[in-house]
Amino acid sequence: HSASSHVIIVFGASGDLAKKKIYPTLWWLFRDKLLPSNTHFIGYSRSNLTVDNLRSNAMPYLNAKDSESTQLDEFFKRNSYVQGSYDKPEDFIRLNKFIVDNFSACSNRLFYLAIPPSQFISVATNLKAHCTAESDGLWNRLIVEKPFGKDLDSSEVLAKHLSSLFSEDQIYRIDHYLGKEMVQNVVVLRFANRVFSPLWNRDNIANVVVTFKENFGTEGRGGYFDEFGIIRDVMQNHLLQILCLIAMERPISMEANDIRDEKVKVLRCMRPLSLDDVVVGQYVADPENGKPGYLDDPTVPAGSITPTYAVAALYVDNERWQGVPFIVRAGKALNEKKCEVRIQFKDVIADILPSGAVHRNELVLRVQPNEAVYMKLMTKRPGMGFGAEETELDLTYNRRFTDLKLPDAYERLLLDVLVGSQINFVRTDELREAWRVFTPALHALESQRVAPHPYPYGVRNGPPQADEFMRRLGFTFSGQYFYPHGG
Ligand code: NAP
Ligand code: NAP
Repeated sequence: HSASSHVIIVFGASGDLAKKKIYPTLWWLFRDKLLPSNTHFIGYSRSNLTVDNLRSNAMPYLNAKDSESTQLDEFFKRNSYVQGSYDKPEDFIRLNKFIVDNFSACSNRLFYLAIPPSQFISVATNLKAHCTAESDGLWNRLIVEKPFGKDLDSSEVLAKHLSSLFSEDQIYRIDHYLGKEMVQNVVVLRFANRVFSPLWNRDNIANVVVTFKENFGTEGRGGYFDEFGIIRDVMQNHLLQILCLIAMERPISMEANDIRDEKVKVLRCMRPLSLDDVVVGQYVADPENGKPGYLDDPTVPAGSITPTYAVAALYVDNERWQGVPFIVRAGKALNEKKCEVRIQFKDVIADILPSGAVHRNELVLRVQPNEAVYMKLMTKRPGMGFGAEETELDLTYNRRFTDLKLPDAYERLLLDVLVGSQINFVRTDELREAWRVFTPALHALESQRVAPHPYPYGVRNGPPQADEFMRRLGFTFSGQYFYPHGG
């Protein structure tokens, strides 16, 4: 049999992720005619809803133009809603019958679990027992969203359960950073440019900094965040994934498992993070800008020591990277919103130029906002004289590619799932290694009740201890660089 249709079933259709991300993404893919022609969408949750409710919930996020109203109607005509529990077999039997009756038994099935992790196992178990397409040639795929556990043990419990029900090639763990243009660009930049490959090692690179910054705090959504903290929320997944792509060896092909094999190898070379290699912070109110502190958020438990900022040094103990600190830093309530990778090269022997005149080269990949790749380098100050000045080779995407419209990360990733490409999804062994690296520090922070250093809302880099920590690791800041076109 080959599939006569595709059915995408969204569990937790009443929720936040569904309305803000999943339905908008499905709509964009439908509008741009990127979905297989016979694709249908089923929302599923416990709430008593209709397709019209789903539509009005998602409406503010769909960015639909007036001229697209006919298409939008067509999209919602392909939607249905099934109300049901996450734990009763009869509800899943009913869902299965709904699919078979309405869209034939010959449909591929994509199950999107947009529900709290506490419901994963029960839903996966019921799906497997009652709701998968069973004919040869049909596929069943499962999308899961973070958090994938809270530490190595809890993640293993979840992973073992999932693996007992679905095979690795059916499980798509979303890390949406892997769907971002600049993150996908790392492999091409590194492996399709002769200028980088000979330099990409401990002989030439002093340190690598992977940064995630937000210019807002929890703002009333602290309940969820407080349980996890910035290390689990951003570092152990998004930043570590980027780091793996920067540090991995050349994969033997662009096949998903060849790339993921290399990422796992990098992770296996990584020392577990120790408390000596991490600085944590928590934002406090800044009376000057009137911004509240983390503990002022009524949804945050009083006295919480959850870090809202962290900077950590990770080490890849292999021939290429021995001794090079990979500095990962992430924070909320900082001065700006950005995500970037900064590769700082070692100093040159600069004895022919005045001392202090020459600054390190840096290669920066700005993931967001305003995608760019730039290399900071020394050039002669134009005109008379022979002074050196820090300038850049600059590839700013929206200047280089006019009319650029980059797809949203979720659009790419959903399409990847439909075509069965797992390059940009996290494999079970990768996840296990990621938790192995971070769990000791997370447990130590919690068991020793390490108090985060305070930093005022809106500062550049968390508490003062963070800059000091980075300096000790050899990160240098020239303070001489000026970019004339604005951030
Ligand atoms: P949510 O709105 O809290 O939950 C989704 C739906 O699950 C709810 O509408 C509710 O539907 C059901 N639900 C909620 N709590 C439940 C409980 N205790 N027991 C049983 N059912 C419950 O979550 P979400 O923000 O959409 O996120 C869904 C998944 O994506 C979660 O795993 C989350 O961690 C992950 N995620 C979310 C975001 C985001 O931006 N929102 C980002 C990254 C990852 P019914 O009551 O109608 O059944
Ligand atoms: P920079 O301002 O010289 O900063 C270099 C690095 O030093 C950054 O990681 C910065 O941290 C850190 N730093 C800043 N002040 C510091 C201090 N007092 N102590 C210790 N470390 C400090 O150079 P840049 O960030 O590469 O570029 C400057 C601006 O130009 C940025 O806004 C950049 O986006 C813009 N620019 C844009 C393009 C483009 O769009 N194509 C190209 C080049 C430059 P933080 O990351 O925390 O700030």
